This record gives sequence, C-alpha cells and structure tokens, in this order.
Amino acid sequence: MADSIPEDPPIPQHIQKDREGFYKLCERLLHEVPPSSTQDQTGLAGYALLFLRIHEWDVGDAFSTSLTAWDSAIALAGEYIDAAVAVTDAHRQRQHAHGHIRSAESQCGFLCTDVGMHAVAFAIYRQLDRERDAADHLRKVLDAATISEQASMSSELLYGRAGYLYALQFVRTHLADADEERRAEIDRIAARTYALIIEDGQRTSRQWGLDHRTPLLWQWHGKAYLGAAHGTAGILTILMRWPELAKRYAPMLQVATDFVLFAIETWTFSVAGASEGVRNWPSSIRPVVSEQGDSPLERAYGRTNLFQFCHGAPGIGLCALQAHATFGNRRYFDVAVRAADATWVAGIGQKGVGLCHGVAGNAYLQLLLLRHTEMTVYADRVRALTLVCRLWESYTRNGTFRLPDHPWSLWEGLAGAVWLLADHLSYEVCVAMRDSDDAAASNSDTFGPRGFPCLSDI
Ligand SMILES: [Zn+2]
Repeated sequence: MADSIPEDPPIPQHIQKDREGFYKLCERLLHEVPPSSTQDQTGLAGYALLFLRIHEWDVGDAFSTSLTAWDSAIALAGEYIDAAVAVTDAHRQRQHAHGHIRSAESQCGFLCTDVGMHAVAFAIYRQLDRERDAADHLRKVLDAATISEQASMSSELLYGRAGYLYALQFVRTHLADADEERRAEIDRIAARTYALIIEDGQRTSRQWGLDHRTPLLWQWHGKAYLGAAHGTAGILTILMRWPELAKRYAPMLQVATDFVLFAIETWTFSVAGASEGVRNWPSSIRPVVSEQGDSPLERAYGRTNLFQFCHGAPGIGLCALQAHATFGNRRYFDVAVRAADATWVAGIGQKGVGLCHGVAGNAYLQLLLLRHTEMTVYADRVRALTLVCRLWESYTRNGTFRLPDHPWSLWEGLAGAVWLLADHLSYEVCVAMRDSDDAAASNSDTFGPRGFPCLSDI
C-alpha cells in the first residue's frame, strides 16, 4: 500500500475568521488608497512599510494565499514605495525651484520625515533585488547623520534623533550578512547620535531644574512631554534598544526610567464599582518651584486624561516592558501590567483605530503582554479591540469615533488597524503551529509580535 501523504492540520476556526477580517480591511485600504493615488509621500511610505511587514510576517501560507489576488505583499510594497519616491522627488523639485527646503528634508525621524521613506525604500528594494536603488536610499539614510547632528535638532521620536536611531536600526537589520563595512558605519553614526541624545537630555534636565530627580529629560516645542511619541518614555525606549550603548549609560538610563515609571504615575479618575481609581501618566511636566525651592511634581502635571500611545499609559507601558527586558526587574513588568489595566478601563476613546492615538495603538500593550504571558485576559482584550477595528466604519458613522485628519494612514487611520490585525493573526498562526508541534514555529525569535510598530519592533 502506498504511503499516504500527511495532511496539513485544519486551520482553527478563529484564525479563519480573523484572516477574513484582515483581508477585508486590507482590501478596503487598497481600494481607498491604491498605490496610484496621489497621497502625500508620508502616507505612501507608511503603506509600503505595512505591506513589507505583511510580507515578512508570512508564516507558511498564512498571507500569501489570498494576497495572490493582488499579486504579492512585497510587490505591493514595491508599488507603494515607487509612488512615495516619485511624489517626494516631484515635491522636492517644486519646492527647491521656489527656494524652499521642505520640513521633511530638514528633520531626521523615521515616521514623519524623508529618512523613514529612504529606510523603507532600502529594505523593499533589497527584497526586490533592485540593489542599485537600495544602495542609493541607504546612502541617503546615512547622510542624514549631518541633519541629526544640528544643534537645534530635537531628540524626539517622530521628527528627531530617537527616530533617526530607529531608522539606523531598521536599515541595519536589512543589510546583507556580508556587509560588515556598512554595519560598522551605522554603528559609528548610532554612537554619535546616541551621545547627542544623552547630552541633550542632561542639559534639558538641568534647565528644567529637575536634575536632582532625573539625569535625563527631553523637551519638544518647549514642553517636557513624557509619552512615547514626543516624550521622554519614547526616547528612553529607543535608547534601551541598543544594548552595547545602553550598557555604557546604564545607571543614568535606569534612574531616568524609574523617574518616568514610578515618580510621576498619578491617580486620574475613579471607576464605578472599583475600590481604586485608575492611574495614568501626565502628558508632560512643568517645573514648578515652590517657596522652599523644591519642585513639587504633583503641581506640575500636564493633562492626565489621555490614554493613547502618544500620551499616557499605553505608551508608558511599552517603556516599562522595554525596561523589564533591559534591566530584568519584575517591578518594571508590574508597571506594564498596571498601564495595560488602566488603558483597558479607560475604553476605546474617540480618535479612531490608528496607532498613534487610536484603538490599534492601545491594543499593542495588551498584545505584547499576551505574547509574554499567554494569559486569557489579554487574549480577550486583544480580540475585543481587533473587533472594534473591524467595525471602525459603524463606529465612525454613529459618532463614537471622530474622523482622523488622515483616515487611512498608518499612524492615524485604517492602515494602523490593518497592521494590528496582521500582527495578531501572525501571532495566532504561530501559536497554532506550535501547538500542533511544528518545530519551525518553536523558534522564539520568530514567535509573535516583537514590539510596537516603529518603536520597539526590531
Ligand atoms: Zn497621537
């Protein structure tokens, strides 16, 4: 009797359903903002990055089967990045003809400047074997070192040096194994950028009269923001992700992290039926010097009612998770758990499903805790939040959500929800493969979501 060919295990029903939901959102995104759309260049590079990630997350046939209807995820990423590069070049030429420099050219963050687009272009063109284009865009990322070294440059994530460090790490992970020369060049630039961020943090902490509380504090547009997008928590998260450099500055980084995580957590509001209120972190702090000359922080808080990646607990929790990975102390993990609980109690907000201040962004802390603990409570929360993402249109129509400024973009709109659904689906597929004893899925490096997009995911 001939040997029978072993059949693939059946795909669990919940994965089938989540896959359908993911495809549906993807198709809507492709319909609304196809690569041929004349979006601004930032939006297009974001979609390119989304489809690059979907390509990279491919575990077995999880994504490719249905994506073949639109060619492949990496081909889509190529179309989007071609469009982003063309739109940016045209815009640049127009502006230069009038003697203007675009702001996206004069800053160096990954998310909101040309640096991110060049970094994403490098990674995609490498995947597509367009080596000459890839080298051209890599050079532009490395040349942006001169922008990051300007004295007036901020250290913030979206536009400044912390974002540049992310861009360097991003291109570093996409280098060919043999490209030692480029890797060494990236490491030299990163060390300089890192030192400039530290100097800026020390200077600002002294300026704000808070150096007796924290050795590092950063400001952006005149405010000492604390959150992940513009503030100290986001910058510290990035700094902790360069292990060699973080070791050099470890005592300083740890005191500054403890300041953010423990000294300025505060009560915000009470919850019906709960014996305790919900804690949050203020969006920023102001130095308030009392008659005794000290700085009573409790009188110095900015808004404490924001629960979103950019301001408040959902982003601070990501910093806590990173501190747990870097310093290894359980108390950091406990802060992440408290931040996730507070975020859950605070609800879905009114700002849509994007990553920066929407549901997808807030879901990430739950998703990362799910990966760490595999506890049902996080699985249930993530499932509920992905369902909200899938129902985004009804929530927008009934007025629960306000329409964001960029309703389709990765950072503010539907593309952020697609990212979450894809990452969650990839995690579920990994779990299913592991549970069916597939050796390929037991490698913890490839298992599930690595971190928050464009902050801690590489
Ligand atoms: Zn935001």
